[in-house]
Order: sequence, then structure tokens, then C-alpha cells
Amino acid sequence: MSDDALLRVTDLHKRFGDEEVLKGVSFEMAPQDVQVLIGPSGSGKSTLLRCVNRLTDYEQGEIVLDGTPTSEMDENDLRRQVGMVFQDFNLFAHRTAKGNVTLGLRQVLGLSKEEADSRAMAQLEQVGLADQADSYPAELSGGQQQRVGIARALAMDPKLLLFDEPTSALDPELIGEVLGVMRDLADEGMTMLCVTHEMGFARQAATDIMFLDGGTIVEHGPPDKLFEDPERERTGQFLERLT
Ligand code: ADP
Ligand code: MG
Repeated sequence: MSDDALLRVTDLHKRFGDEEVLKGVSFEMAPQDVQVLIGPSGSGKSTLLRCVNRLTDYEQGEIVLDGTPTSEMDENDLRRQVGMVFQDFNLFAHRTAKGNVTLGLRQVLGLSKEEADSRAMAQLEQVGLADQADSYPAELSGGQQQRVGIARALAMDPKLLLFDEPTSALDPELIGEVLGVMRDLADEGMTMLCVTHEMGFARQAATDIMFLDGGTIVEHGPPDKLFEDPERERTGQFLERLT
């Protein structure tokens, strides 16, 4: 265990009824790490992310963010420090792109309208959408909507960003623009925990890949190692199907 971990998850257990989905998951992330989490459908990837920002509770284990157990943190404070980007964008349909980004700034951070607008515009600019600030989600492509989702998460100045299959709902031709924004963030040193099947992104941007299967992390290592010389046969088989 290192002292400089930004996120430390220790022996996390989570069950739904009779089904134990997470059976003792442990890992840590240093600042600026880009961890890619892979695993079969239903293996608990979304559940793990949701435990990290307490969208769901868990029976056992500890999650420490930047030295503070998340169980001791105020929920608003935790969600400000840990941003989340969802597969289906989760934008408010009746709010413009800018309105989606300013909402948390106004309600959670309590910024004035002027401050929130100005920060939202800067974030939309960063994801290449300044010219769509006044568009409603229905007027945007899926790729643009997801970039708004990323801008919204970034606007809170989080310590950690969680991505839950951010490109899985997109048409193939729109995936690249979202992965491009994620690569830029990785290059800028954002700490990111990403559930994704995009192995091109994983090879280029990930510091580590974790393979979740049967409720535990069965393999965890740098992309080169997992792709070229996995310890477990199961990891190799799974990666082969993704690539
Ligand atoms: P993944 O994201 O890896 O596909 P999930 O974390 O969504 O997997 O789900 C893991 C398991 O937990 C699945 O068997 C799923 O049916 C179950 N599960 C997830 N959310 C709930 C819930 N809210 N209630 C009951 N079971 C759930
Ligand atoms: Mg999922």
C-alpha cells in the first residue's frame, strides 16, 4: 500500500439478494492513473463504479479517496470530487448543453449564474462544443451529447472521473470523437477509471487494465502485459474476443 493513492478500494463486497456480485475487490489508483476495467457482461463493473461514488451501498470493504474514507464524506462533496460519465449520457432533455453543465455548478457549488455560465462555456470549449452551448440534447448527435456529459463532469473540477461504457450507446462513426476527448483528458493528467471495451483506447491511454470476473479482479497489470502475456488463460481469451 502506498501513501499517495488517490483511490484505494479494499476488500469490497456487494450483494443483490442472494447474488454476491463483488466478492472482495481490492485495487488502488495513483493520481493521474488511467485504469481500464473490463469483464464479462454482468460481472459487476457498473456496480463497482457505483460503489465508488456511493450511488449504491455495499456490505463490506473500504473505499478511501485521497486519504478520506468515502463513508465519512458528505454525499454532495463525494459526487463533486468523483465525476461520473454514463453510457446513456443522462442529460436533462429540457436543458441546453450549457444548462446541463451549469446545473451542478449552481446547485452543488453554489456559483452565481455568471460564474457558472463562464465555467460551463470553458468546459464546453474543452470538449469542442462551444458552438452548441444553446442546443438541446435532442438537437445533438450521441457523440456530442456524451461530450456534454463529460463537460458536465469536468466542470465540478473532480479528483477522479468514472466512465461507464461511455461509447457503448454510440454509432461507430461517433465513438472516435468521445475517445479523443478521453485521450486528451488522460494526456492532461486526469485520473480516470474507465469501463470500456475500446481496446485501442486501452492500449494507448491506460496505465493499467483490470479484469473483473466471478466477483474478483482476476488480473491487473499494464496493457502490454495483459495483451501480450496474460497470467491467466481466461484473460487472454476475453481480450481476444474484444480485439
Ligand atoms: P456489468 O456492468 O459488469 O455488466 P452490473 O454491475 O451491471 O454488471 O451487474 C452485476 C450483477 O448485479 C448482474 O447480475 C446484475 O443483474 C446485478 N444487478 C445490478 N444492479 C442490480 C440491482 N439494482 N438490483 C438487482 N441486481 C442488480
Ligand atoms: Mg455495466
